[in-house]
Amino acid sequence: MEKFDVAVIGSGPGGYVAAIRCAQLGMKTALIERYSSLGGTCLNVGCIPSKALLDSSEHFFNASHHFSTHGIEVKGLKVNLDQMISRKRDVVKVTCDGINYLMKKNKITVLNGHGSFINPHTIEVSQISGAKITVEASKFIIATGSKPSSLPGIEIDKKRIITSTEALELTDVPKHLIVIGGGVIGLELGSVYARLGAKVSVVEFMDGLIASMDKSLGKELQRLLKKDLGFDFYFKHKVTGVTAKNKEITVTADNGKGESIEIKGDYCLVAVGRRPYTDNLGLENAGVKTDAKGRIEVDKHLQTNVPGIYAIGDVINGAMLAHKAEEEGVFVAELLAGQKPHINYNLIPGVVYTWPEVAAVGYTEEQLKEQNKRYKSGNFSFKASGRARASMDTDGFIKVLADADTDEVLGVHMIGPRAADMIAEAVLAMEYRASAEDIARVCHAHPTFTESFKEACLDATGKRSIHM
Ligand SMILES: Cc1cc2nc3c(=O)[nH]c(=O)nc-3n(C[C@H](O)[C@H](O)[C@H](O)COP(=O)(O)OP(=O)(O)OC[C@H]3O[C@@H](n4cnc5c(N)ncnc54)[C@H](O)[C@@H]3O)c2cc1C
Repeated sequence: MEKFDVAVIGSGPGGYVAAIRCAQLGMKTALIERYSSLGGTCLNVGCIPSKALLDSSEHFFNASHHFSTHGIEVKGLKVNLDQMISRKRDVVKVTCDGINYLMKKNKITVLNGHGSFINPHTIEVSQISGAKITVEASKFIIATGSKPSSLPGIEIDKKRIITSTEALELTDVPKHLIVIGGGVIGLELGSVYARLGAKVSVVEFMDGLIASMDKSLGKELQRLLKKDLGFDFYFKHKVTGVTAKNKEITVTADNGKGESIEIKGDYCLVAVGRRPYTDNLGLENAGVKTDAKGRIEVDKHLQTNVPGIYAIGDVINGAMLAHKAEEEGVFVAELLAGQKPHINYNLIPGVVYTWPEVAAVGYTEEQLKEQNKRYKSGNFSFKASGRARASMDTDGFIKVLADADTDEVLGVHMIGPRAADMIAEAVLAMEYRASAEDIARVCHAHPTFTESFKEACLDATGKRSIHM
């Protein structure tokens, strides 16, 4: 039996980052992963492969829709989906290999196999070969992540009725992809196939897209996905069943008026969220409690009800995002080393990698209204941005919400070109509690998309933006 200072279960962005930081801080660290490839959902079947396909499909879409306006003539353009998927696999492989390298570099013991608590101090790792290893550690960090969830009455057959995992490995471009769920994953993967020529219909229970973000973003994204990619939307529809017959799938839904409708397609992507994954983890043997949604309960130090056992990432409460999991991984490692780390959960940015991209941080306008907070709003449209005109990306806007009395920025909501990268400036500014005027007075390079953020901040100060 090997003894470690820390054993981390799960090698996703939460787990592998926690393991690296623990090792860097001098702890003898083990990382337990049930799959042969490290990196978890994010690297293998999440963030990285979806972005690889989003980039490839965007190139195709631009070549077929925008190149001629730029004066570039292309003949015989066609999609080679096999090659696209193969490139995506290469990106995943190189990225996952990078994690292997980091494990070696930091002298972390990687144990491949399914980990299960035998008691609060010991884990049994069942390897694919059938061999079992027992691991003892002073501290444990559970980072077992999440799996796609489904709806009652829907059986995912992984062929025609699929989750995001299968959607990253299709062998043909769907003719009509029906996406259940108007959240981030459904819209990103829907965009991939719409850009490659699929008709995409989104069936959503709520009355808008990306429901947890500022309502203005969902509305604009809906308009643009319809205009640019021909998306159809079925809002306030409750899916009651999905059936597959040969290559045809039928989605039945209650349209909210007491009528049942049918939508037919050739693939159905079920993207209704993810559930925390603790299957066969032996939590009962360690005495670790979960909540009604199956998430591991933790206190403000991310410690479970059992002293010495911590949990981070998708398996606990909060946004299911890779960077949130990473922050929590570093937080626990530093805490174990006796430091006093801090996470500001209000400043975890959210991003949707559609085109245009959507990104946000801080409070939404709806939340500020609910809190009866007095706020000011500043806006800037990319139509007025010279940089956006040069690249033909004039759709979208940036909205800045600031405290009406102190001018402190409380929320930034953007939909537009490179919003995913631009939001970092807002996060940094808000971390240092900048006012809208602070940002408006900072010189931004011209011409860049970031000038639009400066202009939106200027608008929020009440001094009005220069270029609008
Ligand atoms: C299609 C898609 C796109 C996404 N895009 C983004 C994005 O762009 N940006 C973003 O921030 N987030 C994105 N996410 C979400 C992101 O992937 C997750 O939030 C993130 O991976 C969570 O990290 P984690 O470390 O908590 O868990 P995971 O990444 O899920 O990793 C958990 C690991 O634990 C292992 N494991 C589980 N149980 C055991 C056990 N008992 N023993 C051993 N190993 C075990 C699993 O095999 C897995 O490798 C996306 C998700 C999907 C599905």
